[in-house]
Amino acid sequence: MNERSVDVAVIGGGPAGLSAALSAKKNGVDVLLIERNESLGGILNQCIHEGFGIELFKEALTGPEYMQRFIDEVENLKIPYMLNSMVLSVNDKRLIVCSPQGFLRVKAKSVVLAMGCRERTRGNICVPGDRPAGIYTAGCAQNLINLRNYMVGRKVVILGSGDIGLIMARRLTLEGASVLAVIEILPYSSGLSRNIVQCLEDYNIPLYLSHTVVDIKGERRVESITIAQVDEQWNPIPGTEKRMECDTLLLSVGLIPENELSRQAGIELHPVTAGAVVDEYLQTSVPGIFASGNVLHVHDVVDWVTLESELAGKSAAEYAKGVSFPESKISVIPGDGVRYVLPQRISGEKDVTLSLRVFCPGRDKKIIVKDGGKVVKKILKTRAVPSEMIRLSLKSKDLGGIKELRVEVE
Ligand SMILES: Cc1cc2nc3c(=O)[nH]c(=O)nc-3n(C[C@H](O)[C@H](O)[C@H](O)COP(=O)(O)OP(=O)(O)OC[C@H]3O[C@@H](n4cnc5c(N)ncnc54)[C@H](O)[C@@H]3O)c2cc1C
Repeated sequence: MNERSVDVAVIGGGPAGLSAALSAKKNGVDVLLIERNESLGGILNQCIHEGFGIELFKEALTGPEYMQRFIDEVENLKIPYMLNSMVLSVNDKRLIVCSPQGFLRVKAKSVVLAMGCRERTRGNICVPGDRPAGIYTAGCAQNLINLRNYMVGRKVVILGSGDIGLIMARRLTLEGASVLAVIEILPYSSGLSRNIVQCLEDYNIPLYLSHTVVDIKGERRVESITIAQVDEQWNPIPGTEKRMECDTLLLSVGLIPENELSRQAGIELHPVTAGAVVDEYLQTSVPGIFASGNVLHVHDVVDWVTLESELAGKSAAEYAKGVSFPESKISVIPGDGVRYVLPQRISGEKDVTLSLRVFCPGRDKKIIVKDGGKVVKKILKTRAVPSEMIRLSLKSKDLGGIKELRVEVE
């Protein structure tokens, strides 16, 4: 088997991998970027709608426009990358095996995991009914329409009001399909507010909250689906069923971080994020292996993926140069109203930005970081919703002598 050595290996050439590779290179080390697809850019290749880069560039770019800025920089800095190269394994000694025409073993001083995430399928959520053609995940339909020029259906129902489902409701309408409804099991949408307005309300597409699909009918192709209202435990309420004739059902029911390689390397995963447990350097529980982007936790906007990955790339470069990081003595724990907070461990010796999500939507909420009874930081959110990640920065001068920080919503 061929072998090569590198300072920093980055697995995944999406927005996270591109930023991590650029940042590592700018911090003075050799980098190798490994991507399984035939081009760089990750999921952004198929996201031809606007809405990327609003935070970072103050412009509403399409996915391909956003990522091209980073690909151009990778080319300018002559960062080597391998396409059509699937990483098959990584171990805790940072030995990578990938498959670019045959097998290649890459020995890396440090590694950034940037493999993104995949969509949950019908099997993951157990939708009952027949098993005809015409059932797609929303991202798969987006790929077929935007990249391969295949139309997936004419009368469409979408289950799940996450951003991909909302974007696809508009896309299908613009392509001439009739989108009958978006069905959401929660009492609120799990997509960004701007997408509710721009993708549903602007096109008069109804959103059924607290509803789910309870049956699918169709012999060869989907012929109809039945929806029903659900109670607080998500059980369908008898008598509320409504049948919709359609030929296509799209599923936008959540994303799963692609952590098979992380598991192989023995990295500790978090039960809520389904990504690695990390410290403030985005270092996982295996020294020298870092993680960022959707493989670490599912992001709402790509700008945060980019910023997070710059940190992961810089940290990986420092590790490769032999810099040692301070011990992460402080646990950061989600308290009342907070679903998760990340990083889960910090040293307290450096300023840090926490990323968190709340459980339920609310107005005029205080997000409070506490050391026991003492308030370390408090911010006011006029609107806090689970679909939008909250970022909150802490100064090292406020973190002396602390053992545990709890973040809660009041
Ligand atoms: C449909 C959709 C619409 C979106 N709309 C918006 C929007 O309007 N605005 C916005 O800001 N954000 C949006 N996002 C979110 C944004 O696209 C993501 O946050 C971002 O793409 C995540 O970047 P990533 O690099 O972590 O993952 P990805 O983009 O998924 O990239 C991961 C890369 O890793 C590669 N990979 C995985 N495993 C391996 C392996 N074993 N070996 C080699 N390579 C591997 C994959 O092929 C892929 O290229 C949208 C996302 C989707 C899916």
